[in-house]
Amino acid sequence: MLDSHCHWNDEALYPIRKDVYRRALEAGVTSFLVVGWDAPSSQKAIEIAHEFPSVYAAVGIHPENLEGCDEDDLETIRRLSFDPKVVAIGEIGLDYHWFSEEAIRQKQKEWFIRQIDLANERGLPLSIHARDAANDTYEILSHHLPKAGAVLHCYSGSPEMLERFLPLGLFFGFDGPITYRNALTPKAAVVSCPLDRILTETDCPYLAPVPYRGEQNESCHIVGILKAMASLKGISPSEMEKRVADNFANLFHVKP
Ligand SMILES: [Zn+2]
Repeated sequence: MLDSHCHWNDEALYPIRKDVYRRALEAGVTSFLVVGWDAPSSQKAIEIAHEFPSVYAAVGIHPENLEGCDEDDLETIRRLSFDPKVVAIGEIGLDYHWFSEEAIRQKQKEWFIRQIDLANERGLPLSIHARDAANDTYEILSHHLPKAGAVLHCYSGSPEMLERFLPLGLFFGFDGPITYRNALTPKAAVVSCPLDRILTETDCPYLAPVPYRGEQNESCHIVGILKAMASLKGISPSEMEKRVADNFANLFHVKP
């Protein structure tokens, strides 16, 4: 099994990363993508990736972390993207949930596009964060196609929106919310997501699945997410595991 989006570089998990890794291996989760959200956390993701086998890094600047960002930060991300353990640019994208001001949204769009351009120049796929911004995300991606592919991480949109994104070749990452009893939209999205476009992720330390909801999340909880996903798709967990592993290899070009 694999965790295609986790934050062992977060201060909650960084000090216990060796235990997080061990507990994940014991649960059968063996491949991981540690994702940055600014220059320092991206650097840290790379350091962690070099500490363990089958741990990879994504580097990028998250839309919530753009305040004060300048050319130097983008240059740092570009430099970091050359590390052999870096397999993606992320997480990047749009977050309109906390930001309603037009100037800020404009800056988010601009930095999203610039980082897509960087990924295309480097031949890397994207890990995308899109919150309450599905239409603008679609607009930008359809005009700036990610040449090496992309995953919409923690997909929270409707099944209809998912159908619109499919022709762009995107993958969709699902996490804890697909186990929440009342989370009908993420469950419906899993049902409509083709088996060759679906990925498991925890987004730990956030979004712990049932029965750990509200607790600090860890990569070992992929097991529950994978089971919930398999049952929504009506296939066995082992078949689901195989599909997700193929998708991970197809998108990030590393064998899980
Ligand atoms: Zn994340």
